[in-house]
Amino acid sequence: MFVRVLPDQAAGKILDYRVPEPMRPNIGVGSRVRIPVRTRLIPGTVLEISDSSEFPTVRDIAGLLDEKPMIRPSLLDLARWMADYYCCPFETAVRSVLPVAVRDGKVAAKRQNSVRPARQIDESEIEALARKAPRQADALRAVLASDKPVLVSKAAAEAGVSEGVFRTLEKNGFVAIESTVIERDPYGGEFVATAQPTLNQEQEEALRAVVETMEKPDKPILLFGVTGSGKTEVYLRAIRHAIDQGRTALVLVPEIALTPQTVERFKSRFASMQDRIAVLHSHLSEGERRDEWHKIHSGHARIVIGARSSIFAPVENPGIIIVDEEHEGSYKQDEAPRYNARDMAVLRGAREKAAVLLGSATPSLESWHNCETGKYRLVRLNQRVDDKSMPVVRVVDLRRTAGNDGGILSRPLRQAIEQRLAKGEQTILFLNRRGFSTSLVCESCGHVCQCPDCSVSLTYHRAAGRMVCHICGHSARAPKACPECADPKIRHSGTGTQKVEDALNGIFPKARIARMDADSMTRKDSYRETLGAFKEGRIDILVGTQMIAKGLHFPNVTLVGIVNADLGLHIPDFRAGERTFQLLTQVAGRAGRGEMEGEVVVQTFTPFSPSIQFARHHDFQGFMEQEMEFRRGFSYPPFGRMALITLRGTMLERVAFSAETLSRKLKASAPEGVAVGEGVPAPLEKAKTYHRYQVSLRGPSSPALSRLARTTLDSLPMPEDVFVAVDVDPIHLL
Ligand code: ADP
Ligand code: ZN
Repeated sequence: MFVRVLPDQAAGKILDYRVPEPMRPNIGVGSRVRIPVRTRLIPGTVLEISDSSEFPTVRDIAGLLDEKPMIRPSLLDLARWMADYYCCPFETAVRSVLPVAVRDGKVAAKRQNSVRPARQIDESEIEALARKAPRQADALRAVLASDKPVLVSKAAAEAGVSEGVFRTLEKNGFVAIESTVIERDPYGGEFVATAQPTLNQEQEEALRAVVETMEKPDKPILLFGVTGSGKTEVYLRAIRHAIDQGRTALVLVPEIALTPQTVERFKSRFASMQDRIAVLHSHLSEGERRDEWHKIHSGHARIVIGARSSIFAPVENPGIIIVDEEHEGSYKQDEAPRYNARDMAVLRGAREKAAVLLGSATPSLESWHNCETGKYRLVRLNQRVDDKSMPVVRVVDLRRTAGNDGGILSRPLRQAIEQRLAKGEQTILFLNRRGFSTSLVCESCGHVCQCPDCSVSLTYHRAAGRMVCHICGHSARAPKACPECADPKIRHSGTGTQKVEDALNGIFPKARIARMDADSMTRKDSYRETLGAFKEGRIDILVGTQMIAKGLHFPNVTLVGIVNADLGLHIPDFRAGERTFQLLTQVAGRAGRGEMEGEVVVQTFTPFSPSIQFARHHDFQGFMEQEMEFRRGFSYPPFGRMALITLRGTMLERVAFSAETLSRKLKASAPEGVAVGEGVPAPLEKAKTYHRYQVSLRGPSSPALSRLARTTLDSLPMPEDVFVAVDVDPIHLL
């Protein structure tokens, strides 16, 4: 018996080994093994088993790392596909399929001692014992009080004795002590079962579509419905159906911070089987992650909820794979393999014959396009469950108010906050500070300097005094006055949440104000604490970044203010409009979730930009039509595909030169229809002391771009200190 093994940390080299007799019953495809390579022993993964090897001398496997194969063959296939499509080494892809916490068996199962009676013991014996050793008798009574084995620590606490007393009891033949595996449960606690509501007609139809797909796998379903239209309820029913059919369910949610709420809802609904729900996300300790993973691998867990990487959870026979908020950028992994978990869900669903359900209130253009071309099936939920109307959205034109009002908060927004404070209602103020606020925006007419060829805003490079397009490399001197209205007040915008908080404190000295962003949420529990305080009404105004934009439900919030809607709009990325629309729609969804009507105030220098106008009228369809036109015109995704090659290194000249060389080589071998960009500085020119350059590839299909990148890079030696990353279907172009 021979195996082909992929060694860890080896760039794609696959080696043959012989399997010694005793290991044969336990080895299989996906087994983790220890293999000799030259003079060392290293871990690796079994890819294939065969009766022969083409090599004359083959060494023996040194050992098995686990009792049974760790990676299911279907997941190995997925890894293979991923390596190919996303242009990364196979070993890197395999690595992401098996979490570090279980990879080398270094994180151990948590064990605790439990104790049970060793034999029948009657009362007279205990009394006899009590006379000579009262503490032993107390301890023994604590053990006998339970009809199941009890934890030694628990029995000791109950009897008020030390744990050593149980050892004495064991020596004297009264009890038996065993070490048992304890599962760490990050969401420990009791969940009260919740009843399931009767579905409305739209939900019924949606569920029927999902059930049909589960029975006869067809295409993925895009469930499009505004916040509060009952999508989650459809998920819960679909999962119930899968479980009733003896299958499993996989649920992906984007934000780690959201998971507690989601987990609570799922655990409550499936209260009778809550230990069969596994949760995987990056805030777990290694031990917790290991336990959750094994709970899935052993087949015990039937429902898995988690963030991006849970798409590789080793559940068997999934009936349904759900991707909530499918448009979310956080489904894209930002290091190799740079996969998109939503797209992997579609692929995994097709391979494992599971229904795939993508849900969103603001679907991505990619998914919408897939519905239009018939690749996905569109199912809508048009009504909010409670028939509540959408909040009123007011747009405040900062070009008019900036001059007379000065500060960050316009008069209409201040007044709206004042009213809320007077009525004891709550306000959320949102500022999207992400991205670089270095676009040039004219304060008097709102003009933003754009690239003539790319329809993205130009990035201001202060040092050089120039504006540069990061898609095509176009560059121009930064103007001293607005090219549109000649006003010299053209400048780069930039306001942080901190500044907003300060301003609020000045204007409303009595209000209770809290800030929530990456800077203020450094402790592990601060997120939960702040939200808890807000929920209980101990905070009047919550200021934050996109961290507070999504999924949260606060009935007493009747006002949402968007401090500067333009920040996200002018980053040099063709998805800027889409993101702004999604964000505004989602933030607006935070207002009026309770009995009271909600109001949204949007401050902007560009009140007529389509993202803002369509979001204001809750007009997804209108936004889509116009955004699709724009993308079609420039062959941007979803009409064309893209790959981005980023080079980084500490020596600027070397990075620039390598990027130029790479661009030239790519151009020389690019197939028809594939456009290769110049080597240009990345929008994020320098990060963590590295200079960054990019070369973009565009064409009709991603695999063609992937292939071109791979073959070119394979034959082009890079300087040792220049690192290359390939991103196929990039989400962030920075
Ligand atoms: P979404 O996921 O689209 O935001 P949810 O499924 O969370 O919507 O539904 C919004 C609210 O309405 C939740 O509180 C949910 O419990 C409730 N709900 C959903 N469907 C129904 C229904 N058919 N009958 C009554 N309440 C429902
Ligand atoms: Zn350009």
